[in-house]
Amino acid sequence: MARYLGSVCRLCRREGLKLFLKGDRCYTDKCAIEKRSYPPGAHGSNFRRKVSEFGIQLREKQKVKRLYGLLEKQFRRLFKEAERRKGMSGENLLMLLEKRLDNIVYRAGFASSRAESRQLVTHGHIQVNGKKGSYPSMTLRPDDVVSVREKSRKNVQINSAMEAALRKGTSSWLEVDPKNYSVKIVSEPKREELTLPIQEQLIVELYSR
Ligand code: SF4
Repeated sequence: MARYLGSVCRLCRREGLKLFLKGDRCYTDKCAIEKRSYPPGAHGSNFRRKVSEFGIQLREKQKVKRLYGLLEKQFRRLFKEAERRKGMSGENLLMLLEKRLDNIVYRAGFASSRAESRQLVTHGHIQVNGKKGSYPSMTLRPDDVVSVREKSRKNVQINSAMEAALRKGTSSWLEVDPKNYSVKIVSEPKREELTLPIQEQLIVELYSR
């Protein structure tokens, strides 16, 4: 599958905010956006342009897509699914993104970034309801239990991510059991818990053009 291989810090600088794509480094003063808070590129620091309505909508979509590490095709497919569901499409989209397995592994603290959590899933370190064969884009539901495979519980990367996550805390819709390396989804995700500034309505407007 195609994937973005460039510098992820460029993506944050392009969107003008921290997307937390690099794990622990994002919380240190090594964060690129702390040092260079202007868009990447040779003229990034003196780049001024009036942004059109389309441009604003496009940036919002790119921001969310990059935050969750999806490519255009996957993102559009998820949007179509969000439209099919009851309620507001924008909010449905965010909730579907939150309920992806890779996001839950990240939110539970088993990985320090979504990219790392995707790797854990594809490498078979993660089980859903005690079974192998999970994939990063899997949509989970309340009562599903995600756990680290018994053999992988000594993995240094997982343990250090969990230590850092314990200090930061987790989402209220997830019940993390660090002793058993598991997390249970206790309810649907809550829109108000997404603290990054996201205007999902702009994404709906973009795709409705
Ligand atoms: Fe973004 Fe993290 Fe890089 Fe900072 S360190 S620019 S938050 S990916």
